[in-house]
Amino acid sequence: MKNITADIVQQFIPKRKEDSYKGTYGKVLVIGGDQNMGGAIMLTASAAVYSGAGLVTVATDPKNHTALHARLPEAMVLDLWDAKSLEEQIKKVDIVVMGPGLGLSEQAAEVVELVFQHIHKEQQLILDGSAISLVAQESLSLPETHLTFTPHAGEWKKLSGISKEDQTVEKNKQAQKKLDATIVLKGSRTEIYFCNDDWKNTTGNPAMATGGMGDTLAGMIAGFTAQLPDKEQATLAAVYLHSYIGDALADQQYVVLPSQIIEAIPSFMKNFE
Ligand code: AMP
Ligand code: MG
Repeated sequence: MKNITADIVQQFIPKRKEDSYKGTYGKVLVIGGDQNMGGAIMLTASAAVYSGAGLVTVATDPKNHTALHARLPEAMVLDLWDAKSLEEQIKKVDIVVMGPGLGLSEQAAEVVELVFQHIHKEQQLILDGSAISLVAQESLSLPETHLTFTPHAGEWKKLSGISKEDQTVEKNKQAQKKLDATIVLKGSRTEIYFCNDDWKNTTGNPAMATGGMGDTLAGMIAGFTAQLPDKEQATLAAVYLHSYIGDALADQQYVVLPSQIIEAIPSFMKNFE
């Protein structure tokens, strides 16, 4: 395993071009947040916006729309359960990130299936939280697109069948090959498995062990993937920076909140450009 380090990440985050506009920085669709878990999708959407994605649309339960507009005016919203609008929106974006707060209902499983049906080969799909559990639970067949899973050890167990004690690099690599997807296996030292190589993060700390931290990472990966030409580099940079910011905040704080990481993303990206 190779280590993700600051000097590597420094090479990945480019200066923005003078003549660029929002269209240059990608369109992201964020899907999740049922009636009870609107906060999760707000964190994911905010992380994508603060990472610099050009345009962010959030498909979430209508109960979350007002709060989302108030908290994140930069994002557009649509009704998560309206299949037609969702299908239309999928066609318009470069990247879909799905799962945070989606829940495990039958209706949620239908949303995942709809996305799998309509997403194109050229699009990127990032699956987190409930979406990972639903893929495992319903044994859904995966779409032919660029796929990234962001499980923690428990979700990885459901998806790969490997028990937590057995999650060795070798076994994880084999499971990655079977799934033919990028695996971001979150933990105190997050591991990333691509088709041709694998990486270990060198940042992060236990002050980050708070609810919503993973939802935030999923949004950062989407936001970075929207902007950077190399999708693997985007994933490595997002994982590193998410925890790098967590480390910087933890110097002064006993606990670090996901929303504090989100607010700090733009200034920390500036340090790495
Ligand atoms: P989730 O379990 O989906 O909320 O994801 C948790 C996020 O917080 C992941 O990005 C983890 O890498 C990070 N995290 C949680 N606990 C720790 C820890 N003890 N040390 C470093 N990072 C952590
Ligand atoms: Mg999570």
